[in-house]
Amino acid sequence: MTGQYVRVALDHPLDALYDYRYGLDSAPAPGMLVRVPFGRRDVVGLICEVNAHSDVPANKIRDVSAVCAACPPLSAQWLALAGFAADYYQRGLGEVALPALPQALRDPSRWARLLAPEERYRLSPQGRAALPDALPARAQALRRLAQALSGAGELDVAAARALHPKAIATLEAWCEAGWVEHERIEFGAAASAAHSAAPTAAVDVPRLSDEQADAVEAIGAASGFAPFLLHGVTGSGKTEVYLRALAALLERDPGAQALVLVPEINLTPQFEAAFRTRFAATLADEAIVTLHSGLAEGERARNWLAAHTGRARIVLGTRLAVLASLPRLAMLVVDEEHDPAYKQQEGLRYSARDLAVWRAKQLGVPVVLGSATPSLESWWQAEQGRYTRLTLARRAIADAVLPTVKLIDLEEERRRGRASFEGLSGPLVAAMKARLERGEQSLVFLNRRGYAPTLACDACGWVAGCPRCSAYVVLHKPERGLRCHHCGWESRIPRSCPECGNVDIAPMGRGTQRIEEALASAVPGARVLRIDADSTRRKGSAQALFSDVHAGEVDILVGTQMIAKGHDFQRVSLVGVLNADNALFSHDFRASERLFAQLMQVSGRAGRAGLAGEVLVQTRYPRHALYHALARQDYVGFANTQIAERRDAHLPPFVYQALLRAEGRTLEAALTFLAQAAEALAAIPGAERVMAYDAVPLTIVKVMNVHRAQLLVESQSRAALQATLRAWQPALRALRGVLRWNLEVDPLDI
Ligand code: ADP
Ligand code: ZN
Ligand code: ZN
Repeated sequence: MTGQYVRVALDHPLDALYDYRYGLDSAPAPGMLVRVPFGRRDVVGLICEVNAHSDVPANKIRDVSAVCAACPPLSAQWLALAGFAADYYQRGLGEVALPALPQALRDPSRWARLLAPEERYRLSPQGRAALPDALPARAQALRRLAQALSGAGELDVAAARALHPKAIATLEAWCEAGWVEHERIEFGAAASAAHSAAPTAAVDVPRLSDEQADAVEAIGAASGFAPFLLHGVTGSGKTEVYLRALAALLERDPGAQALVLVPEINLTPQFEAAFRTRFAATLADEAIVTLHSGLAEGERARNWLAAHTGRARIVLGTRLAVLASLPRLAMLVVDEEHDPAYKQQEGLRYSARDLAVWRAKQLGVPVVLGSATPSLESWWQAEQGRYTRLTLARRAIADAVLPTVKLIDLEEERRRGRASFEGLSGPLVAAMKARLERGEQSLVFLNRRGYAPTLACDACGWVAGCPRCSAYVVLHKPERGLRCHHCGWESRIPRSCPECGNVDIAPMGRGTQRIEEALASAVPGARVLRIDADSTRRKGSAQALFSDVHAGEVDILVGTQMIAKGHDFQRVSLVGVLNADNALFSHDFRASERLFAQLMQVSGRAGRAGLAGEVLVQTRYPRHALYHALARQDYVGFANTQIAERRDAHLPPFVYQALLRAEGRTLEAALTFLAQAAEALAAIPGAERVMAYDAVPLTIVKVMNVHRAQLLVESQSRAALQATLRAWQPALRALRGVLRWNLEVDPLDI
């Protein structure tokens, strides 16, 4: 058959591309998004090839029904990126390319709306002050509308109507009152960020330290692919290095684009504000956009398109932004490159950091990986001279020095009969009181949310477990319930032991809620704030809580790793670390690397702005090498010891790994599947270079009544591993007996 045909990638687990006839008016091109029939549905596909003929018989081939006019074709370079990611992570091209697009582009029914101007209402500063207090107490519907507005800061027309049929009339009335502003954004305009600071005339640009200046110069002098590992202690001013390097880039090449990745959504506002302020004079407001999963769908699509069409010059985002289309990409930055959040844990299990490095290589441009505690993978690259190391050994602000770290020996405290308050040792409480008196802030870090890890009966040994998982359920006191953190199962707190009727059932262990409660009585008069996944469930609430900390309305901040990362708290001079010991004896060989990074991070929140910082770590193992390295703030010593251990034990980065996970109705089904998979692997020619371990159950073997097991495979050669995994796929697809399986390349959690 001849004519015009296209081969299209669909979001479908198979590698295959699908042929369609193309009879639309506009010319087809690779990279275009099209709407095609697939089975009985209409789906979105990506044109990969345009051909003059097709092998599919004329009576079988179907027609492309529409082209997405809102999205100009994706470039060959972007298709190559998706192709690489698909290949490396053992997926189909369509499975990678289509999920990488914003939802609104993957739904043809929204294409027309994408081209239409968007209308929305944004809360004004007056409105923020007035709402909802100015509303009559009984006006429930109005109050809901006001709450939705103040949560997100803005509402689009559809969302407002969904809340109440007369919402638009109300919002218009609020416009009159000056509480909200009505905005209309034309297609093709990038969304201006909500909450952006008013541009200031004179931007305060600090004088660089010598170390910073050297780093900026090295990045500026690079040509071609140039990976940098910016190893800078906490508070050393890595952000300033990124800002200067980007400013220099944009000065050299006014059309260039840069991608800046941060590990957490909560860090984007801080970065966004810094970037907007710095580039207020050189870039239009629309030229800086964010990309993360917290954006409303319309905004995400607009920002994505702004990047794709080159209007956005600086794209600031979380891991998903690494797959953004950036036709003029000229520099990449990965802040806190060691952070496990860069690894996607479902679907395409990619590492955004690794893909960022690949993109830099593909384009021949610099990539800056910044961290106070680089991943051992990146550290090892630098040790071998493949990455250029840039070091910031000192804090940027004149009298800010690194905090002193002290270990509080819990055994010793107990032996000496010293008082403690519900898990808070005497010295820690005293230190917090001293901070309170001086008007400084304390931060208490505990990586466990909820009130207590579980509830138990002393009389019979009953422990509250999840009926669907092989796990304990967590006691949540404010929510008055037990909750499974693995499957979401909830129940009320029983009044007595369900086994023996004993009424003296008690919480076992401590979570952030319990520490929050203990702090209130241990440090009387202190304003305590808890920040964790539970206290920040509502959209926008994390931001509000962090602002309270910055505004000095909080004396003691207690929280999980959410408070440990990146935040530049100016008045925190004390950090307390509770319950870190658990991670010291984990089966996962990466646990100590992670713990060390986390503790260095959280320690780094202390003493950033000239106040002397102190870190108190409560532990039963005060002689542990990890804590000693922490006390010396000695990343290099720690990393080199770990590298030596990994080399001796033949662990990454000295071997390459992949993990096959299976989920079955029974554990036996999962293990049998994996055993058969291992047999199939051994039969692949060339598989001698790949070793398979025995299949083992996961630590939490049952989740939602599904049993889980895994098979680890590894090789000294990345190429051999890759080739073998590819060859393994057909055999895996042919195997039966489990509910699901997935293959993860370069797994982080083992
Ligand atoms: P890091 O990301 O390395 O932990 P930040 O980039 O958050 O550090 O910088 C820490 C603090 O130092 C910030 O308040 C920043 O404004 C300030 N800072 C950075 N560079 C300089 C400089 N050259 N002179 C003065 N202050 C600086
Ligand atoms: Zn009991
Ligand atoms: Zn459960």
